[in-house]
Amino acid sequence: KTVWRIDVADEAGTLALAKEFATLLKSGDTLTLAGDLGAGKTTFARAIIRALMNDPSVEAPSPTFTLMQIYENDALRIVHADFYRIESGAELAGLGWDEEVEDAIVLVEWAERAPEALPQDRIDLRLSFVDGENRDARRITVSGHGAFAARLSSFKSL
Ligand code: ADP
Ligand code: MG
Repeated sequence: KTVWRIDVADEAGTLALAKEFATLLKSGDTLTLAGDLGAGKTTFARAIIRALMNDPSVEAPSPTFTLMQIYENDALRIVHADFYRIESGAELAGLGWDEEVEDAIVLVEWAERAPEALPQDRIDLRLSFVDGENRDARRITVSGHGAFAARLSSFKSL
C-alpha cells in the first residue's frame, strides 16, 4: 500500500483534483471516499461523475437516502453509493450489490460501514478538514492497494 497526500485551498482545488482523478478510473475500479460529514465526499464523487459522463449538468445528488445512484451511457456504468445507513455486507448482498457493481466504476462513501462488500484492490481517498485554517481547505489522502499503487504513481498531482 502506498499513500499520497495533497493539500487543496478550496472547493475549486478539490474539483480540479477529482476531474484529473477521473481520467485514472476504469470499469471495474472501486474508489472509497472517507471523511467527516461535510468534508466533501459527495462533492468529489459528483465531479468524477460529471467528468466521466462528460456532462457538467448531471445533478448527481447525494446517495445517502437512495443508497446508490446509477449513471450509465453506452461506454460506462458508474455506481455512486453511500453505506452510511447500511448495517452489514449481508444487507448489501440482499440488495443485489454484486450485480449492480459488475463492470462498473464504483464510488463509495462511508465504505467503513461494510468493507467486506468491497474488493481489497482499490483506491481509498480521505478528505480531512485542516485545523486552524479556513473552512475551505482540505487535506486529501490517497491510498493505493495492490495494482493501484503502481497506477497512482503515474498520476501527476500526487
Ligand atoms: P460529504 O459528502 O463529505 O458529507 P459534501 O460533499 O456533501 O460532503 O459537502 C461538502 C461541502 O463543503 C459542500 O457544501 C462544499 O461546497 C463545501 N466545501 C468547501 N470547501 C471544500 C473543499 N475544499 N472541498 C470540498 N468541498 C468543500
Ligand atoms: Mg456525502
